Amino acid sequence: MDYNTKYIIVTGGVLSSLGKGLASASIGALLESRGLTVTIQKLDPYINVDPGTMNPFQHGEVFVTDDGSETDLDLGHYERFTHAKLGKDNNFTTGKIYDSVISKERRGDYLGGTVQVIPHITDEIMASIQLVADGVDVVIVEIGGTIGDIESLPFLEAIRQFKTRVGKDNIIYIHLTLVPYISTAGELKTKPTQHSVKELRSIGIQPDILLCRTVRYLSKDIKAKIALFCNVSVDAVITAKDVECIYEVPLIFHKEGLDNKILELLHIWARAPRLEAWEQFVEKYKNPEHSVTIAIVGKYVDLTESYKSLNEALYHGGVSNDCKVNLIFVDSETINEENCKEILGSADGILVPGGFGPRGIEGKICAAKYARENMVPFFGICLGMQIAVIEIARNIAGMEGAHSSEFDKETVYPVIYLMTEWYDERTQTVQKRNVNSAKGGSMRLGAYPCHIRKETFAYKAYDVEDISERHRHRYEFNNDYKDKLEEKGLIISGISPNGELVEIVEIKDHPWFLGCQFHPEFKSRPMDPHPLFKDFIKASLKQAKS
Ligand code: GLN
Repeated sequence: MDYNTKYIIVTGGVLSSLGKGLASASIGALLESRGLTVTIQKLDPYINVDPGTMNPFQHGEVFVTDDGSETDLDLGHYERFTHAKLGKDNNFTTGKIYDSVISKERRGDYLGGTVQVIPHITDEIMASIQLVADGVDVVIVEIGGTIGDIESLPFLEAIRQFKTRVGKDNIIYIHLTLVPYISTAGELKTKPTQHSVKELRSIGIQPDILLCRTVRYLSKDIKAKIALFCNVSVDAVITAKDVECIYEVPLIFHKEGLDNKILELLHIWARAPRLEAWEQFVEKYKNPEHSVTIAIVGKYVDLTESYKSLNEALYHGGVSNDCKVNLIFVDSETINEENCKEILGSADGILVPGGFGPRGIEGKICAAKYARENMVPFFGICLGMQIAVIEIARNIAGMEGAHSSEFDKETVYPVIYLMTEWYDERTQTVQKRNVNSAKGGSMRLGAYPCHIRKETFAYKAYDVEDISERHRHRYEFNNDYKDKLEEKGLIISGISPNGELVEIVEIKDHPWFLGCQFHPEFKSRPMDPHPLFKDFIKASLKQAKS
């Protein structure tokens, strides 16, 4: 273990959804801007081994890392805000910790001992934190849930003990709380923060810094009051003010002196921060020259959390085109051939995102057809690409009833199907699967190489022939229909290096119509927007102006 590594533990109090993930990511961004290397880890108290099997309605998006791990959506924030390379060790859940401890117990590793939460589970948690510490200056650990939850207790006990393990000069605890503004009293209230810190101290953790989520800047007096009651110094009480643009959070934290305070407490000397790129991005985000309207035709439209990375990637594409992106979320169940024009008529671009299950599929096919016939830029992602293939098979290639075998097992034209055997380039093994395979972790997951054909929308966007993108799906393009579909105008512009897996499809004579089997949104960053999103927005902007 590297004893020079410093640790920042981030906990949350009062209530959930205060933006602990964004706060952790912003701390990472600030430390990077001062020349330090960071990594960020999320410890989630729920019992699922990973969020891969969880419903997006409950848990939001499942974020996929290069190594094929299905992780919490906060890892998406971490990757967008920092350059940390994240993978399976950056997200642990209670389920994953217990799974490992129970396997060790079955193997006989505990040599007849009684296996207990303390020390076995807590030791396992501490060992998991140290797994990511190699080669970085600072490890930021975000503890999921809210102080007071029963499930988080073993994690909190572990991080309490961790101070003794790594030494008091090498660790700080940051607590995010809420300071509500009560309009009838015209006042900001500190009591919830006091209670939350009291709760934390009752389990032996004294926070070093408080991030106070609030609608207005905290006055000196309020800060002094919080400092007194919570036993922290006044300059460790930081206003975490609501922002219009999430990429402003590191800037606000810096103005409040957060990075200086962290470095002081951790005894780190580092250069002054370089935040110009962040400032420019926020400035462009807030003052765009143009605007476009993009319709997202999907199933989880009520919860924007389900499409977190997608929304961000669209905003990144917008900023790079000096353009505000207005998103309209359309429930695909409400779309049919008759009302398609009415519902989608105001959109400058149409996007069908990833998804699972049969609900709303026909509406998505209608949307793809509408976009194709009306020359509206179309972007199909994962399921969205499969939808585009089905639409083209049915309506151009005359394959009536063409479908994905995911939704119609009896279809005569299974243009999308379950590939039972293929060579997996990432793991370099032959993979097999059938309809009875286990659901957890059994999809094509993580980064795969893709070869791009020249003179296509894809090549124009990427400007290179070999790319790598992240996948999360079970079904694939069926090569039995490749020749027929190509003959009818489908362009296969991206394919796996061995030619087995179709990764990108397009059509000609259209302003921009592209579907990809992977999820490009996972790799888009504010300062490095994804090329496909950039070009999709560019095409949509052209449409808006025409
Ligand atoms: N349901 C489809 C599949 O499993 C698409 C998945 C997705 O869009 N992520 O192949």
